[in-house]
Amino acid sequence: MPANSHRPHVMQRFDLTGQTAVVTGGNRGIGEALAWALAEAGASVVIAARHAERNLAVVDALKAEGHQASAVSLDVTDPDSVESAIESLSAPIDILVNNAGICYHEPAIEVTPQRFLEVMNVNVNGVWYCSQIVGRRMIAQGHGSIINTGSMSGMIVNRPQMQPAYNASKAAVHHLTRSLAAEWAPHGVRVNAIAPGYVRTEMSPLERPEFRRYWIEDAPMQRPAEPEELGPMAVYLASAASSFMTGEIVVLDGGYTLF
Ligand code: NDP
Repeated sequence: MPANSHRPHVMQRFDLTGQTAVVTGGNRGIGEALAWALAEAGASVVIAARHAERNLAVVDALKAEGHQASAVSLDVTDPDSVESAIESLSAPIDILVNNAGICYHEPAIEVTPQRFLEVMNVNVNGVWYCSQIVGRRMIAQGHGSIINTGSMSGMIVNRPQMQPAYNASKAAVHHLTRSLAAEWAPHGVRVNAIAPGYVRTEMSPLERPEFRRYWIEDAPMQRPAEPEELGPMAVYLASAASSFMTGEIVVLDGGYTLF
């Protein structure tokens, strides 16, 4: 043990006991996996998405394993819906995971104005509304950690499928992450993002042969991520383990963006 015997054990820094984490899009896919990881690290998790019955199914599964969990129905594109869902939570909100997101594969020339706005609304405006509404509370309480789910698509252009609105939306999420991090650091609020590569969820049709060639065979690890592989990074970013880290975009892509 080094000279400073008051130094906490490193594993204690990952402990989220007593903290509350709101996870948007937490009822399936990556969000569900992040919610499980945060709950296993000790947090009480709030599953926040539109479909109440799917939210409750995840809450029931978490509770069945002895974790603390609850649900709120919200649509991240509607600030009133976000405001009333957050107001219904009395405990301090220590962690916000802005994870809800959508993606369409469409060549730029075919993207309608409505479709472009739909993607921006969920992926960018949704992050903005939730961050601002929860951020107010975090600033008032003097601490908080916000984790945004960005994407490697905010850094590269995926192929063979074209998804211009999604790519632009994730680049915006990354820079919004940095902007809020810089502004809110003096208030004790950290803001970071994860940028996953392909992950096995409903969003990614991994088994389609026309995608497999580019998404899997071309990638250094030659496999997608399982959602659970992102969980430890969420615990790291949420907890005191990353106490000196803010404004970072952590790429978790099995090396995809190396080529
Ligand atoms: P899924 O399609 O499996 O899940 C999307 C989640 O978002 C659902 O829980 C859905 O719940 C919720 N959601 C969608 N629209 C809204 C809305 N308007 N308001 C509230 N919740 C909403 O996606 P993934 O788990 O794959 O993706 C999660 C995040 O990870 C997204 O931001 C995505 O862009 C990102 N990502 C995914 C990758 C992948 O390969 N899968 C790679 C890189 C990033 P409900 O319908 O009940 O509202």
